[in-house]
Amino acid sequence: MTELRFCGIEPLSLVDLEGMLVCTLFTNGCNFRCPFCQNSNLVFNQDITYLDWEEILSFLKKRRNMLDAVCVTGGEPTLYPDLANKLKEIKALGYFIKLDTNGTNPEMLKELYQASLIDYVAMDIKNALDKYQETIGTKLVNLVNIQESINFLKTSGIDYEFRTTLVHEFHTPEDIEKIGLWLGNVKRMYLQKFKDSETCIKQGLHEVDLQTAHQYKKILKEHMNNVSLRGYE
Ligand code: SF4
Repeated sequence: MTELRFCGIEPLSLVDLEGMLVCTLFTNGCNFRCPFCQNSNLVFNQDITYLDWEEILSFLKKRRNMLDAVCVTGGEPTLYPDLANKLKEIKALGYFIKLDTNGTNPEMLKELYQASLIDYVAMDIKNALDKYQETIGTKLVNLVNIQESINFLKTSGIDYEFRTTLVHEFHTPEDIEKIGLWLGNVKRMYLQKFKDSETCIKQGLHEVDLQTAHQYKKILKEHMNNVSLRGYE
């Protein structure tokens, strides 16, 4: 990957971190091809317009007293070796930093944490391990790295959440049970509602209905204490 440049900004989000006012920055490019991904343009690098980094910094500087946190999302931000440099500049402004990741770069997660450049990580758990490659739309990913990221988040002391976007075509009660057995107790687990849109990588997939989402939550509750639905409110 080349130098990290942000290609999108959501100046204010109230849903990224509970109780915090968050500015979200988007990177492009991803090593997954999740059919249900809403950001196909970012994944395939289509119609990308890069934002000026100095302008982003100046925006964040001006909003320091109004915003609490910056969320860096994608695409997959950890594909960029110079992510730490950008986070350093954001941290210097005093922001709490949340990183969204698919968990494929545990070494970078560790380095960012050790350098105090991330405060919260939201990591996707796409499915049970035996359906991972089918669910992420590629076989070119080393699942050992996913496991290492899970281990790191669970043991490092960093604040984190795991999250699974529920898609009717990909998830069954058996898969959810396997996810529960695999993860064991975790700090926070969210089951997120899928929304079909024309920006998805694959069209025509379906959300999991509320009743089934509650059933999945109940299954996970056998394995972990803190499970919530997101997007079903
Ligand atoms: S959902 Fe996330 S991990 Fe999957 S393709 Fe999209 S950006 Fe990549």
